[in-house]
Amino acid sequence: MVNEGPVKSWHKSVCRYCGTGCGVMLGMDENKKLARVRGDEEAHNKGVICIKGSLLAELMEKKDHRLKQPMIRKNGKLEPASWDEAMTLVADKFKTSIKDHGPNSVAYYGSGQLFIEESYTANKLFKGGIGTNNVDGNPRLCMASAAVGYTQVFGKDEPAGCFDDIDHADTFFIIGSNTYECHPPIWERIMRRKDSGKDVKIIVVDPRRTKTADHADFYLPVVPGTDLLLLNAMLHVIVKEGWQSEEYVQQHINFKKGSDTVSFEEFKTFLEDYSPEKVEEELGVSAPQIREVAYYFAKAKSSMSLWTMGLNQRVQGVFLNNTMNSLHLVTGQINKKGATPLSMTGQCNACGGVRDTGSLSHILPHGRLIKKPEHRAEMEKLWGVPAGRIQPKPGYNALSLFQAMNDEKVKAVLVMCTNPAQSMPNIDHYKPGMEKTFMVVADAFDSETIKYADVVLPAALYIEKEGVYGQTERRYQLIEKLVEPYAESRSDLDILVDFAERIGYGDFISSKTSAEVWEEYRHLSSHSKYNFEGITRDRLKEERGLQWPCPDEKHPGTARRYIPGDPFVPQGKEVFFYGHKDGKANVFLRPYIRGNEQVNDEFPIYLTTGRVISQWHTGSMTTTVKELNTQSGPGRFKLHPQDASHYNVKTGDTIRVTSSRGTMTGKLEISELETPGVVFAAFYDKSFIINQVVSDDHDPYSKQPDYKVTRVKIEKVAAN
Ligand code: SF4
Repeated sequence: MVNEGPVKSWHKSVCRYCGTGCGVMLGMDENKKLARVRGDEEAHNKGVICIKGSLLAELMEKKDHRLKQPMIRKNGKLEPASWDEAMTLVADKFKTSIKDHGPNSVAYYGSGQLFIEESYTANKLFKGGIGTNNVDGNPRLCMASAAVGYTQVFGKDEPAGCFDDIDHADTFFIIGSNTYECHPPIWERIMRRKDSGKDVKIIVVDPRRTKTADHADFYLPVVPGTDLLLLNAMLHVIVKEGWQSEEYVQQHINFKKGSDTVSFEEFKTFLEDYSPEKVEEELGVSAPQIREVAYYFAKAKSSMSLWTMGLNQRVQGVFLNNTMNSLHLVTGQINKKGATPLSMTGQCNACGGVRDTGSLSHILPHGRLIKKPEHRAEMEKLWGVPAGRIQPKPGYNALSLFQAMNDEKVKAVLVMCTNPAQSMPNIDHYKPGMEKTFMVVADAFDSETIKYADVVLPAALYIEKEGVYGQTERRYQLIEKLVEPYAESRSDLDILVDFAERIGYGDFISSKTSAEVWEEYRHLSSHSKYNFEGITRDRLKEERGLQWPCPDEKHPGTARRYIPGDPFVPQGKEVFFYGHKDGKANVFLRPYIRGNEQVNDEFPIYLTTGRVISQWHTGSMTTTVKELNTQSGPGRFKLHPQDASHYNVKTGDTIRVTSSRGTMTGKLEISELETPGVVFAAFYDKSFIINQVVSDDHDPYSKQPDYKVTRVKIEKVAAN
């Protein structure tokens, strides 16, 4: 039970979990233990937090699940070791691999939960020091399609708008997001807007009738995998009815077919194939419904779209993200209060820590791309490394990295703060590689991945260390260290600095503390349009986060990009998408393509996966908190009564779900909230690893896997 004793001091901080990045107040008791947590009224979330955030104190108390000391695998068994023994072994293995097989024989696999300072340091060490682009991580699994989508459309990643837009929107278009459960403070803010007396419409698009869908004015239960038909059909209606913004079409948009610029007329011709009547049967939504939501989207004073994994974790994830942005651009529902496309993130620091620091295998800090010679040259100069040090080709992404481990091309990998043995799709396929590769796993908690580790490094958790998170709306917020690291654990930054020194890059990784790294990184940003040089550590200590761009210390930060107030918009311009030289955004003609996972006689039903309100990701943290487990219960399948009747199963029965990738057996719950033709499972329970069944088909551009659409068959194993 959480210590609810008297609080000696309150400290502003940020929740450890999701990309909402809620401000929290942490109450420390006289023993310097975290005793109480409440929402921070002065932060952007206005004091609202969800159950997970409210139980952060209990998370910090769960010592029995924490990793206590370094361990080395000997004769198949992990045995305690000193830090020096463990790090000597790690350094030797990496150095030998680099010497014998070249820099691309090693890799780093990180997380959207490390601090910015940590991810930046790992990225700099591997790409600029060792000279390999094998830097990737779990954000590849959750938001790579959004990042690629924004970059293609606006020339720069990260959203234009912010959470404040919720207070001004009249139409909310929520697609592929169970906001009610996964981002509760955002949902509550939408509800406050709905209850404000204004004529506010909520449109929810989801194959599942989630709790979010339950509150919608318009709920569109699309067939899994078909929603690009809906977005193109909405565009079809909009241009047929003449609801487009002439200003945007004439002045701010380049219509693109591949890399070719085409006319608006050609765009209209492309949309001819997507009339509501043509798509309604495959989509599962009637033509009148499509027309109705197109109207409310286009004609509202301000329309705001929110989406997350339902759009990103898809074989057409980038096309979906492109087209979601297109809807806003074509209708001019952008660049004004309440009108913005906003892709939300699942991890606390996926945006700031991974996308902004360039810690994926195809990018470099601050929107630079590995494939562009001028971007590589710029980073080499800024990092002070010889020309050609940064390799010209992207490194392995999450899927290709674990395949390269299967193929023994990667010999040693450093995994930090993530649990790929539970989170990767088609996981059984990738386990042989985890067995064969020298795997170093740094984490705070025990996890499935530890089973494959050759060396385990206990990592400090949350307020046991200091650093900056960057959440969904480009807001950087500081987490100050309030307690000492548990047992022998060390911050991930300390681990990385030690590792760098032992493999010969101690001088290159010259910033050794979190504050020093921030100074280096902050100044580095001034060479880019992500400029946040004005976000000093001292300001972060005082303020409730600051949104970049923020080029100098007097600058208040930028809530909305591409309009006056954004320091990169030239004077006299009302709108300027400065990611592209001509200041225009791209609207792509993106055809719907059927994925491989179409149901058939052998696999007649779709499996889709997602989260529940009281658990988070693979559950390595949240399943250690009793109240959260009580609320969620164990992992299980969920099915609509209609399908239950077809399969002659009921709640409590055990069923087997099989795809072309694998099989999972588990308990069943029948729920009216599910959709006929779809079986649902969450992925937080390590005794119910649904990712064994999930397809590893992926988007060809973002390389993000599709966790949402896998065709499966169901068999009854045992009655309750
Ligand atoms: Fe934490 Fe996300 Fe809940 Fe906010 S919504 S309290 S950031 S888990």
